[in-house]
Parts: sequence; C-alpha cells; structure tokens
Amino acid sequence: MKKYKTAIILFAVFETIAISLWLATGSLFYLLNFTYIGLCIGVGLALSRAGWKYAREFIQFGVGAYMLVFLGLICKENMQIEGFWYYLLSGVLGAGVLHYAIAKIFGPLLFGRGWCGYACWTAMILDLFPFKQPQGPRKKIGFIRYIVFALALILVLLLFHYGKATKHTMFLLFLIGNLVYYVVGILLAIMFKDNRAFCKYICPITVFLKPMSYFSLLRIRCDESKCIHCDKCLKVCPMEVEVNNNSRKRKNATECILCQKCKRECPVKALK
Ligand code: SF4
Ligand code: SF4
Ligand code: SF4
Repeated sequence: MKKYKTAIILFAVFETIAISLWLATGSLFYLLNFTYIGLCIGVGLALSRAGWKYAREFIQFGVGAYMLVFLGLICKENMQIEGFWYYLLSGVLGAGVLHYAIAKIFGPLLFGRGWCGYACWTAMILDLFPFKQPQGPRKKIGFIRYIVFALALILVLLLFHYGKATKHTMFLLFLIGNLVYYVVGILLAIMFKDNRAFCKYICPITVFLKPMSYFSLLRIRCDESKCIHCDKCLKVCPMEVEVNNNSRKRKNATECILCQKCKRECPVKALK
C-alpha cells in the first residue's frame, strides 16, 4: 500500500477540490470534472508504481484529450491563455480561470510542471514524435514566449475595446489557437529534432509555470553522495535538466516536467 501513497494523496487532493467547488458553487460540473481528473491521475500513478511503461501517457491522454475534446470542443470553454485573460477581465470565475489557478499558477508550487508532463493536450500530441530527447544544442530563443504571452493579452484587450469579446469569439480563438500551436509545435519538433521545442521556446504559459515551479514542493531530488556521474539521467531527459545536481538553481531547473525518465535510468537509484 505504501508504494501507492502518492497516487492516493493526489486523488484525495483532487477530490477535495471537487467537493469544495461543488459545495461552493452548487455546480455538479466541478464535482464530476475534478473527480474524473483525479481518477485519471490516481490510477495512472498507481499503474506507474506497478511498473507499467505507458502510465504517464495514460494520464496525459486521459486528462489532455478530455480537456481538449469535452471542455474545449463540446462545452466551448477557451482554456488557452486568451481564455484566462477573457474570464479574468470579465470578472467571471469561469473554468478557464480555475484551470489556470490550479494547474498553472498556484498548483505548480505543489506539483511543479506536472501539468506539462501529464495533462497538456498540446504536448500529448508532440510527445508522439520520435525526438524524445533533443538532438542538438539548446537554442537561445526562449524570449519568444514573452512575446506570445504579451500578444495574447493585447489581443484580448483589443477584443474588449472593440466590443467583440464574446464567448463565441473566444471559442473561435480556441480553435485557431490550438491549430496554430499544433502546427508550430510539430514544425519545431521536426526542425530542431526535439519534441518539446515548442515548450522550451514558444509556449506562453511557461511565463507562469517557470517561476512558480522553481519553488515546487514536488521535485526530483538527487542524492549526490550516491551519484556516480554516469550522466545517463542527463541523456534521457527531454527538457535538458541538470538533474544530477540537487540545487534548485540547477541548469534548466524550471523545465522539469516530472516525467520520471531520469529516475528509471539511474543505475544507483540516486534520484528520488
Ligand atoms: S510548456 Fe506549454 S505546451 Fe508544453 S506542456 Fe507545458 S503547457 Fe503544454
Ligand atoms: S527526465 Fe527527470 S529531470 Fe528530465 S524532465 Fe523528466 S523528471 Fe525532469
Ligand atoms: S543516472 Fe544516477 S548515477 Fe548517473 S549521473 Fe544521473 S544521478 Fe548520477
């Protein structure tokens, strides 16, 4: 039972959120939504502990596809960054604001960039490409994320200014935005031979995710006294994290998506 502790705790956290929001808002949607997400995460983590190789992908598709297809395409909720600004500026506590608060702004203080490793519907597709580890040096173009971040905010401000900020417009933006993300993400993955190039250079959400995940409670720790410096962990890391250094200031520290590949590779179990 001990080895399933994390799975049980995370399910309990999501269930607490589900029940609290249900009671606070009276909306059954929150109960079902967060229970489903908690179940995917709990079952997936339990499968991972039981040694199933595709447990992370199970969670990633379970949560990512649900959010994209059900919440996005069927319920017409814009959960991209434009949707966050739209709901925030409208003063509405919509699904978009809650989603950002839990998964991308405050949640990362607890579970770092778990969203990026286990739930993001953009990465869910990008991870299917064959470039699991970057095959070239990191590019110095990470500044693009700040430009995309600013453009998304400016776009929503302009929509409000011209009286076009409606749910319908936001739904259209959701469709166009996702299409653009997928096309750009796939092109970059192929050009740079790196599935996660979009995450490293373009994704505007990292403007929230990176600083918050720096303080994350959940992180891969290295027992440097055990490490034999074989660098196997570094070779499998999709995000080029200097994971065999235990400092929070390690190289690309805020890029870790908690995928656990490094842990599985370590011959002396120095990573926890
Ligand atoms: S960096 Fe952006 S695109 Fe990549 S996994 Fe995270 S949220 Fe998704
Ligand atoms: S391989 Fe390890 S350090 Fe790299 S992203 Fe995955 S969990 Fe983080
Ligand atoms: S795989 Fe383990 S032993 Fe090898 S460098 Fe990484 S932490 Fe150290």
